[in-house]
Amino acid sequence: MDHDSITKNQTTERYLLRELTETESDAFEEHYFDCQECAERVRCGTELMEYGREVAREGRFTPIVPVPPQPNYWTPALRVGMLAVMLGVGFAVYQKIHVSAPVQQAALQDVFIHLEAAKGPSANAQVIGRNQRPVLSFAIPAWAASADAVSYRAVLVLPSGKSLYRQITAHEAEDQIDWPIDRDGLTSGLYSVTVRSLGRDGAELKGNIPTFLFTLELQK
Ligand SMILES: [Zn+2]
Repeated sequence: MDHDSITKNQTTERYLLRELTETESDAFEEHYFDCQECAERVRCGTELMEYGREVAREGRFTPIVPVPPQPNYWTPALRVGMLAVMLGVGFAVYQKIHVSAPVQQAALQDVFIHLEAAKGPSANAQVIGRNQRPVLSFAIPAWAASADAVSYRAVLVLPSGKSLYRQITAHEAEDQIDWPIDRDGLTSGLYSVTVRSLGRDGAELKGNIPTFLFTLELQK
């Protein structure tokens, strides 16, 4: 049994619906053990049929068209055609899920970098792995929190000289602030975060400006 005739004759669908003779079934099984595409269609089709049975069991299935009482309403050809359509859709979804899976697995893992304003950069650089994302975690020290401040603006200066900004509400400032940093564009080197207090009109207030210094080493 070759792959083209299997596709043309909808053998996979008929196999799943147990409509093949024993000889045909054996021949098909022999083929799909070595054919990745057919094996995936069988796996996907089995899941699809199990899902269908589950839905029917739970009564979640509401027929759009009233189904006539005759038990043989679905002729074999109709059933095969129907499964072929479902399998086509299911297979596309299946492939999409499986193709996107490695991307999901490679989701960035957060590395919290606890910053302290009183201290300078640590002698040891914080190493950020390829699949890690730095999250700056800091609190605005009491000595820097102005009573007039309506909000704060944190400025992260990268080794390249580029700056990233983050607005912090007075409410957020009462707690530890976690600032996830997009890994793209980051390089190894010295970073600084300064936090400025902003008044009602958005203008910077005079006072102590806490600065946090730290060093990152980004693994390629
Ligand atoms: Zn095949």
